[in-house]
Amino acid sequence: MLEYPNTISSKLPKVGTTIFTVMSQLAKENEAVNLSQGFPDFPVSQVLIDLVYKYMSQGYNQYPPMPGVMQLRELIAEKMERLYSCSYNPEEEVTITAGGTQAIFTAIMATINEGDEVIIFTPAYDCYAPAVELAGGKLVYVQLKSSDYSIDWKQVKKVVSRHTKMILINSPHNPSGAVLKHADIQELIGITKDNDIIILSDEVYEHIIFDGETHQSMAKYPELANRSLIVYSFGKTFHVTGWKTGYAVGPSNLMAEFRKVHQFNVFTANAPIQYALAEYMSSSENYMHIHEVYQEKRNIFLSAVKASRFKLKPTKGTYFQLLDYSKISNEEDTALATRLTIEHKIASIPVSVFYHNPVQNSVLRFCFAKENDTLMKAGDILCNI
Ligand code: GLN
Repeated sequence: MLEYPNTISSKLPKVGTTIFTVMSQLAKENEAVNLSQGFPDFPVSQVLIDLVYKYMSQGYNQYPPMPGVMQLRELIAEKMERLYSCSYNPEEEVTITAGGTQAIFTAIMATINEGDEVIIFTPAYDCYAPAVELAGGKLVYVQLKSSDYSIDWKQVKKVVSRHTKMILINSPHNPSGAVLKHADIQELIGITKDNDIIILSDEVYEHIIFDGETHQSMAKYPELANRSLIVYSFGKTFHVTGWKTGYAVGPSNLMAEFRKVHQFNVFTANAPIQYALAEYMSSSENYMHIHEVYQEKRNIFLSAVKASRFKLKPTKGTYFQLLDYSKISNEEDTALATRLTIEHKIASIPVSVFYHNPVQNSVLRFCFAKENDTLMKAGDILCNI
C-alpha cells in the first residue's frame, strides 16, 4: 500500500462512493437480481454496434471537433425542432459531452461563482450538489411533496433571492419518476420572468414517459429556453450507458461559457461513437418509439409485483419504480435495501440517500430497464417478501 501523509483537506469531505456503485457491488457479491443502478441489461441495436465498428475501421479514431461532430449536432438540432419546436444553431448552441453527468458538472462549473445560490429539489440525483459545492456555490434545498414528488412552488417563491443564480430542474425525475406538468411550467415562467436566473434542466429521460403524458422540455417554452442549459443522454436513449455520450443545448452565450470549461475538462467526446450515433439518429424512427418499449417493461414489472405487499403508484417517467415497503418493515431504507440484497437476492436503491437531510419515506427505487425474464424473476422475489 502507498501512503500519503494525512494532510489532505478534502474538497468534498462528506462524499463517499456513490450509492449506485455500492449497491451494484453488493448485488454482484451476493449474486442478487440487480434492479439498483439504472442501466439496461438488454442488447444494444446491432445496427448501432455495426456503425461504431464501421467508423472505427474507416479511421475515425482521432479527436473530433471540440464541441462534437457536426453531423451529430445538426441531427440534435433537428430533433429539438421536431419534438419541442425550438431552433438551436448546431454551430454555437449544441455541444456533445462525455455523458449527462459531465454535461451537468460542466454547466455548473461554467456558470456558478462563489456564493451564488442554486436551488435543488430533493430527493435529487446525487451528482448535482457536489458540483455546486466544487464551484463554490451555495445549495438551497426545496423538498418535493412527499405524496407525489411534485414541486412546492410556494416554497420555491420563498427561497428565491437576489443571490439565486440557478434552478436545477429534472423531469422525468430520478429517483421518483415524477414529471413536470404544464402548470409547473407556468409557475417556473412566473418565478423567472423578472430576473436572469439560469435553468439547468436535466432531461436525460425525455423519451421515457408513460400513459400518454408528454415531456415538458424547457425548450418548448421560449421564456425558459432562452435561459436554459438542457442536458440529454444517448446512454438513456439508446440504452448504451457505458458509452458515456450525451449533449447539452442552450443559448449561444451560455454555451460559449460551457465550452470554455468543456474543452479543459474533457476537450471532446468519443469520435467513432459520435459518427455512429449521427448515422443512427438520421432516422427519427430510432428514437420516436422508445417510450413504447419502456411502457411495456413498466407494465410487466407492475403486474409482476401486483401480488406483493409493496404499495406503489405507477411511475410516470424514467425507468424507475418506487415501491413503498411500509406494510412490510419499519427498517430504514438503507438497512432494508442491504438486507434484501443479501437475504432475498434483490438489489434496489434506498431513496433517503437523495435527500440533504435523509427523509424516511419507506420507499425503495427499482430499475425496470431489464429483460422481461429478469423482471419476472424480480417480481417472484418481491412477492415473497
Ligand atoms: N443514472 C443511474 C441511476 O440513477 C446511475 C448512474 C451512475 O451510476 N452514476 O441509477
